[in-house]
Amino acid sequence: MSSNEVASPDSEVQYRGKSYRVIKEGRAYILKPPAETAATQATRRDLKPEDKDQTVFYNPIQQFNRDLTVLAIRVYGEHVMAKNKLANKHTPKSRTKKRKREDEQVKGTEELPDTQHVDPCPFTILDALSASGLRALRYASEIPFVTRVVANDLSSSAIQSMKLNIEYNRLENLIQPNTGDARMYMYRHVEERKKFDVIDLDPYGSAAPFIDAAVQGIKDEGLLCITCTDAGVWASNGYPEKSFALYGGIPMKGLHSHEGGLRLILNSVAIAAGKYGLAIEPLLSLSIDFYARLFVRIHRSPAQAKFMSGNTMVVYNCDSGCGAWTTQPLTQTRQKLDKKGNPFYHFGLAQAPTGNQKCEHCGMKTHLSGPMWAGPLHNSDFIQKILDLLPQVDRDVYQTLDRVEGMLTTALEEDLSLQIIPENDQSPASEDTAPTGDSLHIIARTDPALREPHPFYFGLASISKVIHTTTVPYYEFLGALRHLGYRCTRSHTKPNTVRTDAPWTVIWEIMREWARQKGPIKEGSIRPGTAGAGIMAKSRKLQINPQLTALRQELITASEDGKDVPDLITRVEAALYRSRSQCSLDSSTELSAGNARDTRTDNSSVDCSKLDVVFDESLGRQTRRRKRLVRYQVNPRANWGPLGRASGGARR
Ligand SMILES: [Zn+2]
Repeated sequence: MSSNEVASPDSEVQYRGKSYRVIKEGRAYILKPPAETAATQATRRDLKPEDKDQTVFYNPIQQFNRDLTVLAIRVYGEHVMAKNKLANKHTPKSRTKKRKREDEQVKGTEELPDTQHVDPCPFTILDALSASGLRALRYASEIPFVTRVVANDLSSSAIQSMKLNIEYNRLENLIQPNTGDARMYMYRHVEERKKFDVIDLDPYGSAAPFIDAAVQGIKDEGLLCITCTDAGVWASNGYPEKSFALYGGIPMKGLHSHEGGLRLILNSVAIAAGKYGLAIEPLLSLSIDFYARLFVRIHRSPAQAKFMSGNTMVVYNCDSGCGAWTTQPLTQTRQKLDKKGNPFYHFGLAQAPTGNQKCEHCGMKTHLSGPMWAGPLHNSDFIQKILDLLPQVDRDVYQTLDRVEGMLTTALEEDLSLQIIPENDQSPASEDTAPTGDSLHIIARTDPALREPHPFYFGLASISKVIHTTTVPYYEFLGALRHLGYRCTRSHTKPNTVRTDAPWTVIWEIMREWARQKGPIKEGSIRPGTAGAGIMAKSRKLQINPQLTALRQELITASEDGKDVPDLITRVEAALYRSRSQCSLDSSTELSAGNARDTRTDNSSVDCSKLDVVFDESLGRQTRRRKRLVRYQVNPRANWGPLGRASGGARR
């Protein structure tokens, strides 16, 4: 069959004596029997069970996931190729020529790749739960240096239709279909020479049952891609027991449960890997719609696996009160220097607990979640390399490119260390730090000792609701944080969320100031004993004490209405008397009623009552971006992190 026999998308074709509808995604074509076409027009809830089964053959909603994955594996593969090249400096000329020819083919034309030659430099992918084989078809046709893709599925009928599609796409030399249990297949490939560069787990539901086999079937520094579509388990508080059984951790309640879910899944991978002397490095961890998509690099290094416990935490959540949280690492990692001044790590027990029994901000009870991954969610270098690739790829092939770019940019900006840089500042990297040639593709290793210092995020609507004030506008709130010298950004998981290094004591002081300056709280709307009452009990007394406000008003009225001096004196004396008796009444009721106050301890490190809170919208709107110097950082530093970087309680 020549290339002009490949039908245009969404047309009917006759192939091997049968009629099919052709669907094109990326550079791959899928043949669908007409009966399946109707069922997969949409993944509606009202589909009949038999139609639902057929939708497994093509789910258009997952195109974003597949587009992103192809691009991510390509960037990762370029890293592997570059690393191999740097390892063998004398690359034969013939291979270089062939690579160039393949690159031109992919960039320039819509032709299907020539599968006749096999690259002597292997790059292998296992699509462990392949179903229709669409992912395998896309990897084989869109990633130029792929030498072998194994498309495995338990269902022999899925493999039959997959074989048809492999033939139709003329990818027989690159894709090897396999019928069988994914775990058994991966356990049979734990031998070094049989391992894969990339293993993709894309199940319907949880990938948890496959993770142990996957971490063993992957090469040193290999890439593990994981989808988990059971957000109802890892990002909700409905099934803590199920979440623990699957992922070994308890989910959290609240807006930040989606990041909590990503951390639960990562922890389950870290635990599976650790027992084999493998350490995980999350390259990209996304919570998208109803599923999680994670890209994790697996390092064979018992030394790096030692950082795991220090990068694991439980979280105390004020989920029935103000929404604040406190993190508790499982162990403490301290960097020390030996006699020669070389750094080494000491792994010790962590002090516990880091939080009080009741929330220190509002006095309500807290709940426990975790254990979960406490390290970084992403590798900025990896994300930046995918973003750098986007202008080179064909928008017709990657139809979800805008969303890929938006999602990756937001994920990249979750890094609070990004600086606010004026738009006209191009901040050029010095020539000697910008890598060239093959080293340009190397993905720098994240510091394995690094703990995420400021995990999670909150929503402004929810925290405004706690104290019954109007929702503070997004950029005014960011401006207030920045005016106080704190850094802030948003989470990729939800719009209008705030990630910040400001402690909760400061966040609540900003909210109290919001209520005082701009969003007055209607009298009586905060009931005693609620989280809002606990938060507002810490108000700046001098400025918003209601007795003083009333006294001030009475004195103003007296000075305006007083007929003469004796009348004025009488009015002022009366006002002072009323104010004093009101004060003594209040203090006695406060003593008898306020048991919630006794259990709270203030964060003594910040004297919030003196903070100059300014809702500076233009400061909040300033964008942050990466300096080129940081963006092109190539090699991890010789020593991991400055002294004490990963130690301490990471208290919020
Ligand atoms: Zn609270």
